[in-house]
Amino acid sequence: MTGDPRLPERGPQGLAPPAVAPPAIVSMKSASFGYADRAVVSGVTLDIHAGEVVAILGPNGSGKSTLVKGLLGLNDHLSGQVALFGAPIDRFRDHARLGYVPQRHTLSASVRATAAEIVAVGRLPRQGWLGRPNREDRRIIQESLAVVGLEDRANVDVNTLSGGQQRRVLIARALAAHPDVLVMDEPTAGVDLASQEVLSQVLTRLARRGTTMLIVTHELQAVSGALTRIVQLNGGRVTFDDSPAGHARAMGSSQTTGHDGHHDDEGGPLTSPAAGPLDHLAGGHGA
Ligand code: ADP
Ligand code: MG
Repeated sequence: MTGDPRLPERGPQGLAPPAVAPPAIVSMKSASFGYADRAVVSGVTLDIHAGEVVAILGPNGSGKSTLVKGLLGLNDHLSGQVALFGAPIDRFRDHARLGYVPQRHTLSASVRATAAEIVAVGRLPRQGWLGRPNREDRRIIQESLAVVGLEDRANVDVNTLSGGQQRRVLIARALAAHPDVLVMDEPTAGVDLASQEVLSQVLTRLARRGTTMLIVTHELQAVSGALTRIVQLNGGRVTFDDSPAGHARAMGSSQTTGHDGHHDDEGGPLTSPAAGPLDHLAGGHGA
């Protein structure tokens, strides 16, 4: 562990890389994760540094959620080395540095709360025990809602929001903790197209602000404006890890240029020497 000033350094000027490289945010060497003693993901060697925006792709059941939940300590780390911010995962305690938006998560219909109240929950880990939101917390809550384009909904009941808007509230809640990395499990799945469009803009905006992100997704197109890297899982193993341009080349497709042009979402299975079929990129994974 290095000195850990945790400055809430989120301005637009935060784009330049620091002169002295801090430890990787996530560092895995031959890591496996699973449930009880069954490994679901294994042999993963992956370093993620500040400023990277990494998409994790892979068919259903390939272990994407298991991998990201493993990093959050939500399942069992079975072997290999895993470090977060330079600290071995077993000793890592500063979980507020990891923002998490779980898969298929909207708010329960029984929740009676305003958007601002939900986002306020994200401030709790930063308030110390007995903390009450102070003026600075309220400013951060409002700012987090603004980042996801919901500043004008702060005081509305979350039940009145669409699924896509609720997802954005949950992203705002994660952002409000000022995490150093934002881990999102299928943030755009199961929301209507208009919401997907907005979410895609939100992710691009976060990327421009220098937010490090790990995004599990089927909708590559929705996040393509933000990505710096693509990691593919198949059967619990990393089978591809390269830039979006490298991914486009591996796909061997003249249509995929790495910009948000048309991907092959409706084009049936693609064969690729490196990455395996990506036909699962087709939409329709409703919550
Ligand atoms: P993905 O997110 O890529 O669809 P998952 O990580 O959810 O894949 O699942 C990978 C495998 O792990 C599946 O075979 C699934 O049955 C198993 N699995 C997922 N969650 C659990 C759990 N809580 N307990 C036991 N096995 C699980
Ligand atoms: Mg999953």
